[in-house]
Amino acid sequence: MARLIAGATTSHVPAIGAALDNGKANEPYWQPLFKGYEPSKKWLAEIKPDVVILVYNDHASAFSLEIIPTFALGCAESFPPADEGWGPRPVPTVKGHPELAWHLAEQLILDEFDMTIVNKMDVDHGLTVPLSLMFGQPDAWPCKVIPLAVNVVQYPPPTGRRCYNLGQAIARAVASFPEDLKVVVFGTGGMSHQLQGPRAGLINRDFDKAFLDRLVSDPAGQAMVPHIDYVREAGSEAIELVMWLVMRGAL
Ligand code: FE
Repeated sequence: MARLIAGATTSHVPAIGAALDNGKANEPYWQPLFKGYEPSKKWLAEIKPDVVILVYNDHASAFSLEIIPTFALGCAESFPPADEGWGPRPVPTVKGHPELAWHLAEQLILDEFDMTIVNKMDVDHGLTVPLSLMFGQPDAWPCKVIPLAVNVVQYPPPTGRRCYNLGQAIARAVASFPEDLKVVVFGTGGMSHQLQGPRAGLINRDFDKAFLDRLVSDPAGQAMVPHIDYVREAGSEAIELVMWLVMRGAL
């Protein structure tokens, strides 16, 4: 049977991808950040997952305001890199796992989560930066990836509780897949941050640390925190943190 063996969370900020792609990872400005990822990289290299279910959000690369799926599950054979801003990153094409993805779609929809099934999708920095952080810069990604794009861009995003419950449903779905697979879940997105307006650049370390503690010790409680608290305390883009609750629910 497939086994969900681990989870990881990380920011997916595009500048990290640009730093890696332009050979700036060893510069003093970036070194502390990349050093922080070394233990996770080593650990993933040891456990060698077969599939990563990668929870992230699209930044107007695959979807526009014309179609806004709340939960979009990538069921394709492969997903080409694309991006706004710096343009597509020079990273390998992402290979999917259609069999497991379709199994997830079936199980989750019958479990009453209204997933959008996506058979053709470009993937942007939201998905490729976490892969680079966890797997470095290989010629091909070392495992299959199932993208799960969550709408946290256009109001209304899903609640933290909905995301936490979805994670639990993903765990049940993985456990009922008959093939022997080691599956890891990534929850990605920025912690406190705001990109626009008078509060642009806002960071709230105390909020972030409290979120991390509660993600470990009281995830069901954290899942009940309403959107407005994230916006007030941690900036309008901190709502991306609900995607970390999908990972936590899955564990
Ligand atoms: Fe983002």
